[in-house]
Amino acid sequence: MADHPRFGPAGVPQMFRTMGAKLADVPKLLRVEELDAFEYAAVRWGQVPQMKQVDAETLGGEARKNDITLSLHGSYFINLFGEKEVVEASKRRLIACAQAAEWMGAYVVVFHAGFYGKNGKAETLRRCVESVREVSATLKSLGIEKVKLGPETMGRHSQFGSLEEILEVCRQVEDTQLVIDWSHLHARSGGGLRSVEDFRKIVTAAEEKLGTESVRNMHCHFSKIEYTYKTGEKRHHILEEPGFGPEFEKLAEVIVEFKMRPVMICETALQDVDAVKMKKKLGKIQKKN
Ligand SMILES: [Zn+2]
Repeated sequence: MADHPRFGPAGVPQMFRTMGAKLADVPKLLRVEELDAFEYAAVRWGQVPQMKQVDAETLGGEARKNDITLSLHGSYFINLFGEKEVVEASKRRLIACAQAAEWMGAYVVVFHAGFYGKNGKAETLRRCVESVREVSATLKSLGIEKVKLGPETMGRHSQFGSLEEILEVCRQVEDTQLVIDWSHLHARSGGGLRSVEDFRKIVTAAEEKLGTESVRNMHCHFSKIEYTYKTGEKRHHILEEPGFGPEFEKLAEVIVEFKMRPVMICETALQDVDAVKMKKKLGKIQKKN
């Protein structure tokens, strides 16, 4: 939970890698760039944590020292709506991610819930609620108490994760974290995020369902995005790429209007560079108000 809007990259920025930086160096390098969030990418993980506890703890220590809020992006290999074995393996992957998140002090495990497949939409919602509840209870029994589960809004029509579905899971399951990927919503709606009002509608819908605090504390992903009307999300684009939306300035207006303090994770190929740009754009709008 952030005390003010925070910005940071999804994964270790390319430039840091080129410099030969170690994971433990990332928080202080982000601090130099005046960023204050980092989403660790555990996106290829299997059913056990794929980092050592000591490395996670070292990262966490450096993050606290440099005032960087940590989150963790869970494994892509999660589908809560497949065959029974797939669902059980998915839950174990989520638990592995949450374990590492707890070690490093990350406040949320963001994850993609899965694909509708042959299930109806009502059935996937029911199953999602059931699985997230179950994993959440398991985490508590393992003593993992600070990490929240955050199913993300998704960009493809085949994926569970419309705004309404995510709000409903968060309403029904205690201790979940609202995660809005704005680009995904833009892609899913065939370019629906154009005006400030389009962003405002989403925030208002979330506020009606989950209350003001949830909305102010939402976890966000942002990038520009390419989509097709048929399937939705196609690929992410950098912030300054012309011809693609959504525009961060419009969201920034709404952040100021609703006094939001989101953790804003930049998912463009220019991870940290674009995160700095977004922070500056918000700063300009804050000054104007
Ligand atoms: Zn994601």
